[in-house]
Amino acid sequence: MGKVLLVTGGSRGIGAACCRLGAREGYDVAVNYKGGKDKAEAVRAEVESSGRRALAVRADVTDEAAVERMLDEVEAGLGPVDAFVSNAGIIHASRPLMDMNPAEIRKVIEVDLTAHILCNRAVVRRMARSKGGRGGAIVNLSSMAASLYGAGGFVPYGAAKGGIDVLTMGLGREAAGDGIRVNGLRPGLIDTDMQNDTGVERRMERFGPGVPIGRGGTAEEVAECVLWLLSDKASYVTGTLFDVSGGR
Ligand code: NDP
Repeated sequence: MGKVLLVTGGSRGIGAACCRLGAREGYDVAVNYKGGKDKAEAVRAEVESSGRRALAVRADVTDEAAVERMLDEVEAGLGPVDAFVSNAGIIHASRPLMDMNPAEIRKVIEVDLTAHILCNRAVVRRMARSKGGRGGAIVNLSSMAASLYGAGGFVPYGAAKGGIDVLTMGLGREAAGDGIRVNGLRPGLIDTDMQNDTGVERRMERFGPGVPIGRGGTAEEVAECVLWLLSDKASYVTGTLFDVSGGR
């Protein structure tokens, strides 16, 4: 049996690319989704066609009880999680902070920060050697919006991602003695459905050429870095952040 990889928001975009590449690298894969059942089932089928075991598991990552049920389901179906990608996320429409409504701000903090902290907590409790676990590796999806401060329409999203950076660096140190590595990735402009949720038309086309490398990135390019960080090749890397942003 292979190691077990769980990816939140595995139904599309960067999460789905992590599931596909994880399978090719020998993991059995649990594909979490919230609303995209058909897409998650399609990713599950692709993982199985690479010869690995797979599970599509529904859970809203903001719901602690649902997250515990998801982890129980993955353990029962595939075994304990060895590698966890905290990826599920949303973005708000691009707008100055003064024009945003409080409910919109609370929602983005709940999904893009609180849920990541709670998911990391739940996973670490099961991985920790001091609690009978077998250790593991975690990658958190932050964003270049954290280092660029989200200025220009994405301040709450940038603030949430800045929180993920602190979560990663703090937990990486705290959990190292328990055999758990925790690292973060800060993707730049990546071509996924999320671009449409910003309300900025043709965002990839307009901003891609301004990236030093001359274009936006792909979900697959981000997944390569995620899988490296999860692997034993990164055995001495923890509590740190990598930019996957074409030099932005
Ligand atoms: P997508 O919009 O393409 O996909 C988002 C995924 O998150 C979907 O699978 C969706 O599931 C899932 N999701 C959203 N809310 C929840 C929830 N409450 N519970 C469970 N799953 C949920 O996003 P990307 O692939 O582009 O982004 C992935 C991560 O990378 C995010 O954290 C994002 O902030 C980050 N990122 C993306 C960048 C980009 O340019 N695209 C740049 C920097 C960071 P479903 O459809 O099933 O509901």
